[in-house]
Amino acid sequence: MSDLATLYESNSAFAGSFDQGDLPLKPNLSTLVLTCVDARVDPAHFAGIELGDALVLRNVGGRVSEAVALEVSMLWMLMAAASGTTPSIELVIIHHTDCGMSRFANPEVAAKVTARFGTESVVETYAISEPTESLATDVARLAANTMVPRELQVSGHIYDVSTGRLTPVIATTPLG
Ligand SMILES: [Zn+2]
Repeated sequence: MSDLATLYESNSAFAGSFDQGDLPLKPNLSTLVLTCVDARVDPAHFAGIELGDALVLRNVGGRVSEAVALEVSMLWMLMAAASGTTPSIELVIIHHTDCGMSRFANPEVAAKVTARFGTESVVETYAISEPTESLATDVARLAANTMVPRELQVSGHIYDVSTGRLTPVIATTPLG
């Protein structure tokens, strides 16, 4: 059974009292969040990101894939074109405890995923054994990708789904 009716019911109430139709395209914060699709991990809730506040990218695990590196670079270009100056964007990467992508770190699951997709790149890109390591890997991926602007500020954090607490792991630094 589809839950679409539930979504429309909620939207009807939302639109009924909506009064933010004049928000600008440019976000209030110079923050670009990258985090997981996990239903427990929503920065609008745990970091108080309201409408118009920040750019948010979510994918499986909150990982820096080739597509994410491209999208971050595109957003940088758009911001630079709109402002006429070097954007001061900070990419805030948030991985979390109990991520589904830890299953991909299990050798049996990894073998099945690799067989299913015919490439090891899926497991290599998305598997998370330990979130502090996956954060470091993702910062290294950005640094190694020449498409990504060197001026981009990047930081890494872990969100704990059992306590609701966000903890800094990698301090803000330019890719350099
Ligand atoms: Zn996750």
